[in-house]
Amino acid sequence: MSHSDITKEQLDILDINSTFSEEYFERRKIKRNICSVYKRTLSYQLQHCLCCGTENESSIIKWGFKKVHYLLNDMAEFKTYLELKKQRFFCKSCGQTFLAEDTITDRHCWISNRVKLSIAERLTEPLMMGFISHLKHVSVMQLKLFDCKNKIILLDFPHQRHLTNSQYNTVERSIL
Ligand SMILES: [Zn+2]
Repeated sequence: MSHSDITKEQLDILDINSTFSEEYFERRKIKRNICSVYKRTLSYQLQHCLCCGTENESSIIKWGFKKVHYLLNDMAEFKTYLELKKQRFFCKSCGQTFLAEDTITDRHCWISNRVKLSIAERLTEPLMMGFISHLKHVSVMQLKLFDCKNKIILLDFPHQRHLTNSQYNTVERSIL
């Protein structure tokens, strides 16, 4: 098993399209905390445009990278980030640029799905919000948007329990 595969196993990352670069790990000070940062590159060949759907017959070209940071579950008690260099694409048919997609987070969210799952588990236990917030490095406000079944239940906001999916996504994006 390669170093890249071992790291993906350790971080519980299933995305098959990405690889870790040679210098894939460092400890870095971020906002007064010493954090673990894993570096990774995500790039692949597209079958069709994600904007207009046109089949890729040399009409989609690679267009540089964008670096994003995702929060992962702690490793060895260090706050841990994935620094992901995501491939940007340009479609000659529709003139749009867009990023490679991954399964590590939801769109427009920097908290990984694995962290959300971990939070959902904690929320089923009799723990204080403040403690979970400290443990998972997210704000109490963000915690209120989670629930153990990933349903639309906004804790402490009973008047908002009947939000539609699109309304919920809007609220989630504005806070996350
Ligand atoms: Zn297109």
